Amino acid sequence: MVFKLIEKRMRFPFERLKIFRWDDRKMTIITIYLFCSGLVLGSFFNVVGLRLPLGKSLIYPSSSCPSCSSRLKVIELIPVISYIWQKGSCRVCKYKVSALYPTIELSTAVLFSIAPFITNGFGEGLLYITLSSLLIMVIVSDLSYMVIPNSLLLFFLPILILEQWYFSLASFSHMAIGGILGYLVLLAILLLSRGGMGGGDVKLFGVIGLVLGIKGVFLSLFLAVLFGACGAVIGMIIGRVQKGKPFPFGPYIAFGTFIVYMKGDQLFSWYMGFFI
Ligand SMILES: [Zn+2]
Repeated sequence: MVFKLIEKRMRFPFERLKIFRWDDRKMTIITIYLFCSGLVLGSFFNVVGLRLPLGKSLIYPSSSCPSCSSRLKVIELIPVISYIWQKGSCRVCKYKVSALYPTIELSTAVLFSIAPFITNGFGEGLLYITLSSLLIMVIVSDLSYMVIPNSLLLFFLPILILEQWYFSLASFSHMAIGGILGYLVLLAILLLSRGGMGGGDVKLFGVIGLVLGIKGVFLSLFLAVLFGACGAVIGMIIGRVQKGKPFPFGPYIAFGTFIVYMKGDQLFSWYMGFFI
């Protein structure tokens, strides 16, 4: 009896998590919590995306102004609010701070807070939040340096596999087929286009395929190419993209993946409608 109780206690938190479903009565508090966590983590994702490709430490030194190097005070580090309060410029030298920072913070907050509405339980939600975190950092890094760091992908790969396995979200064969297919299709595009895409995009798609599976990976590729083409045309019109010059594709892959996550099933029937 005592032994059984101990065993039950030991397994309790983990087993509970496995079957945890979002509680409708607590939806407001969960959403607010996720929104605030997203704001704070989004701020950290900015740091990772900007420092990791340069091989800089993620912790030291603390954030400073890129122009005058003055250290940011605690009051200047409040996500989104500090940016609005200081009208998007440095307190000391009035250097215009990139709008990318608050945009990333707010996007992370929104993406995190919708987790309970687009997933069925804690396991699925955690997987979605993990993948979103990776994609946000990919966006920052790719937009800033046109690089998707290997270390970032290697860090998230085992976490995404473990989460899917632990919460029984996908079998190993499902993950492997999706991952390999995502990787190979992008590799083929890379080889055929002779460098129209970066090696980082290929590896990123392998990781995404592992989560989205066969169905999702093709749909997200279709959307990424569609968004990428629109982005390139708009970029050329406003003079931000030059013809024949590479532009970051990672953000479009991320957009495609988010949309598949949110509206995957409906979109898939629509997409297949063209072929059947
Ligand atoms: Zn400054």
